[in-house]
Amino acid sequence: MAKHIFVTGGVSSSLGKGITASALGRLLKARGLRVVSQKLDPYLNVDPGTMNPFEHGEVFVTDDGAETDLDLGHYERFTDARLTADSNATTGSIYSAVIARERRGDYLGRTVQIIPHVTDEIKDRINRLAGDDVDVVITEVGGTVGDIEILPFLYAIRQFRNDVGRENVCYVHLTLVPYLGGSGEQKTKPTQHSVEELRSRGILPDVIVCRSAAPLSTGIKRKISLTCDVPLEGVVSAVDADNLYEVPLLLHAEGLDGYVCRTLSLETPEPDLAGWVRMVQRAADPSRSLSVGLIGKYVNLPDSYLSVVEALRHAGFAHEARVELHWVQAEEVSPLLADGLLGDLDALVIPGGFGERGIEGKIAAATYAREHGVPCLGLCLGLQVMVIDAARNLAGMVGANSREFDPATPFPVIDLMDDQRKVVDYGGTMRLGAHVAVLRPGSQVAGIYGDLVVAERHRHRFEVNPRFRHRLEAAGLVCSGTSPDERLVEYVELPGHPFWIGTQAHPEFKSRPDRAHPLFRELVAAGLQRAERRGSMPAPLVATEPPLAPPAAGAPRPAVELATSS
Ligand code: GLN
Repeated sequence: MAKHIFVTGGVSSSLGKGITASALGRLLKARGLRVVSQKLDPYLNVDPGTMNPFEHGEVFVTDDGAETDLDLGHYERFTDARLTADSNATTGSIYSAVIARERRGDYLGRTVQIIPHVTDEIKDRINRLAGDDVDVVITEVGGTVGDIEILPFLYAIRQFRNDVGRENVCYVHLTLVPYLGGSGEQKTKPTQHSVEELRSRGILPDVIVCRSAAPLSTGIKRKISLTCDVPLEGVVSAVDADNLYEVPLLLHAEGLDGYVCRTLSLETPEPDLAGWVRMVQRAADPSRSLSVGLIGKYVNLPDSYLSVVEALRHAGFAHEARVELHWVQAEEVSPLLADGLLGDLDALVIPGGFGERGIEGKIAAATYAREHGVPCLGLCLGLQVMVIDAARNLAGMVGANSREFDPATPFPVIDLMDDQRKVVDYGGTMRLGAHVAVLRPGSQVAGIYGDLVVAERHRHRFEVNPRFRHRLEAAGLVCSGTSPDERLVEYVELPGHPFWIGTQAHPEFKSRPDRAHPLFRELVAAGLQRAERRGSMPAPLVATEPPLAPPAAGAPRPAVELATSS
C-alpha cells in the first residue's frame, strides 16, 4: 500500500513548497522508492489553461495533454517522472465533478455538501495516484493555511490519515523564519502561528521545514520543536540556495528524507545521490559563459517561461557553461536592433505565446538571427514567427502573417487547420500533449536528436499552412520534421545557418537538469561557439525571390479570439 506525504505551507506564498515537495521526491526516489507527485490547487479555475501568464506563470503541459500548474514541471525535473492529468486537481475541477454527479442524480436525493462530498472527491483524486506500482504519493496543497479556499483540502487530508492509517501519512509544513535586523534574531513566531492555524484544522505536522536566509541555530530549532510539538529532528532548516537543484542535497544534509522514512516506517538504503551531486558541482563551476536573449512578452514575470529558463540552465550544466539570460521585451526588439544593442547576444530563444502584442518584434528577432548567423531556437509561436520571416523575407510574400494576428493577411502562412476552425470554447480546445514527429534523414534536427521519430508536447491551435509549404521550401526553408501523416509541420530549419531551428512543440517540458534536452543543449553549443568566435560572422542569407503580388482579395475570415491572449 502506498504511503502519503502531504506538503502544506504557511506564513507567506512563494516559499518554495513546490521545490520542497520536488526535492523530497528526488531524495525518496534516490532511496529506491517509486514516487508520484500531485498538486491540489485551491483556485476555482478548472485548470490553469485559460489563465493569463501574469496571473499564474507558465502552464505546464503533460504527455497526456493536461494543462497544469508549473509545480508539475518542478516535480518532473526533480524526480524525472512523466506525470499525467491526475497529478493536478483544482477546486474548479473538483466542484465540476461533484456538480456533474449531482445533476446525474448520483447522490440519490441527498443534500450535497463540502463534507463529505467535496472532501470525498478530493480524497478520490489523491487515491487515484496510489496505484500498486507506487510506494509514495507526495501531495502538495497550493496556497497557504488560513486561505479561505484551502479549507476543504485541509479537511480532506486530515480525514485521509484516518482512512489509511496514521503510519501511512506524513504531514510536512513549510514556513518562513525571518531574520529581524533590529533584534538581530531569527523569529519563530510566524511559524508558531502558522502551525497553530494548521492544528486548528486538526492537522498536527510531523515535519516543519523552515525557509530562512541563514541556517537555523539549534536553539531556534529547539524552540520551534517545543512550541509546535514536533520532535527536534522534525524541524528542518531550508536555507536559501543559489541553485535550486542544490535543495535536495541541503535537505538531505538536514536529515529530512531519513526522518520522513522513519515516520512512515519505510525501510530503505541511504539515497544514491552521486549523479545529482556531480550535476550540482558542474553547475557551480562553469568554465565558460554565453549570453542568451529570450524574446518574450511576459519578461517581467520570469515564471511565465519557467521551463524554457530551466532547459537553458540544464544546457549550460551540460557544457559546464554559465547561461547569462537577457530578457528582451518583444516590443522593444526593433529599437534595440536599430541601436545595435542585441549584437552581444550569442543565441536567441523565441518562446511560445498567444495574441498579437509583440509579434512584429519576435519576427524581427527571427530575421536578425537568420541574417546574422545568430543561433536561434523558436518554440511553438517561435517556429511560427520564423516561418513568417521566411515567407516575407525569403519567399517574397509581402504581408505574410499568421491568421491569429492578421485575419486579412494575403499570405496566411500560419493558419488554423480546417478541422480547428470551429473552435468556439475557451480551454481544452488546443492541440495538446505528446505528438510524434518524423524527422527528415540528414537534417540538422535528426542529427541533434540522433533519431528519426521523436515525441514532444504541444499546446497550440495554429499550424504552418500546407498551401504555402512548397513556396517556402523553394525559398530555402526546410521543413525538417512533420507529423507522421505529413500534414503538419513540426520542425523547420535553414541549411547553412549554424542553428536556426523552430519547433511547433515545447521541448522545454522534457528537459532535465542531468539530461539537457538535445535542442537546448545544441543551441547552447552553437552559442558558445559564437561567443568564442564573435567577430567572424557568416554571410547573411538574403531574399532569393522578388516580392510576389498578393492573391486576389477574398473575404477574410474573422479573427479567432484566443483564450490566453493579452
Ligand atoms: N498562438 C500560437 C498558436 O496557438 C502559438 C501557441 C504557443 O506558442 N504555445 O498556435
